[in-house]
Amino acid sequence: MSAVLMDGKLLASKVREEVKTAVAAMVAAGQAPPGLATVLIGDDPASEIYVRNKRRMCVEAGMQDHHQHLPGNVSHQEAIDLVDALAVNPLISGILVQLPVPGTIVAEELLSRIPAAKDVDGLTVANAGLLAQGLPGHRPCTPAGIVRLLDEYAVALEGATAVVVGRSRLVGKPMAQLLLERNATVTIAHSRTRNLTEVCRNADILIAAAGVPGVITGDAIRPGATVIDVGIHRDGNRLRGDVDFAAASKIAARITPVPGGVGPMTIAMLLANTLKAAQDRQEN
Ligand code: NAP
Repeated sequence: MSAVLMDGKLLASKVREEVKTAVAAMVAAGQAPPGLATVLIGDDPASEIYVRNKRRMCVEAGMQDHHQHLPGNVSHQEAIDLVDALAVNPLISGILVQLPVPGTIVAEELLSRIPAAKDVDGLTVANAGLLAQGLPGHRPCTPAGIVRLLDEYAVALEGATAVVVGRSRLVGKPMAQLLLERNATVTIAHSRTRNLTEVCRNADILIAAAGVPGVITGDAIRPGATVIDVGIHRDGNRLRGDVDFAAASKIAARITPVPGGVGPMTIAMLLANTLKAAQDRQEN
């Protein structure tokens, strides 16, 4: 392996420490600590684990945990009422609805009740619009964490050729917009892209967010490229990503591992967004 490993775990702990210091300063100044309301509907085991981790790190950073758990058979209206109550509660800086929600709930409608200022996941139409227009707002945590990781490793974005594989609302699309904001030349590839390997091989910066294990093979990597693997897949008792790590790490200059790359940055940026939401509220 010749590529430098981009250590998201290390950077995420640094970001969490920064957040913790800023929260302590708020409290020392007599302000209320930021409050995060995670909303979990139903008992999906994977979602329960994700939410538990978010809550634990929120508390470790000195924030207030206002977790809400609704049963899977809750009515759409009850879920809406809960989010509406959180929206006007002054103790709550940020609201995160854990997706997916059960089929009886219309996720779009639920998300639309979260005020943009409290949308710390950056997933509402309002924040997507602000990002599209290049205006300030909460950015989705995974792509924001990737930009932070690229900056930490001094990867030049301006003028770089970036290829983002995936165009989801959660990852691919905002990722491409954030790279464009930083003056990269961006291509978005997706399931209908012809010659994916060739498209990827143009990339100085390759972001793999297709959700298909190993879809990015070694011959898709440009020598010296920076490779960011967003995919997470369980393979027996280990995790793997969208990139063939063994092959890619011999060709790339930098690469993120799975696990320990993008994943930890996602939660760290959630905390950073929640802190920012609380700070913005104090200023207004
Ligand atoms: P998603 O909503 O399923 O979107 C996948 C995207 O990849 C779609 O745009 C799809 O194209 C495209 N795609 C699918 N197969 C492809 C192929 N063979 N070639 C090229 N493009 C292909 O997934 P997501 O929510 O963006 O997540 C992507 C992956 O990242 C998943 O493994 C997920 O678990 C992981 N993830 C990780 C984190 C983290 O914190 N590490 C956070 C979020 C997601 P179409 O639009 O044409 O269908």
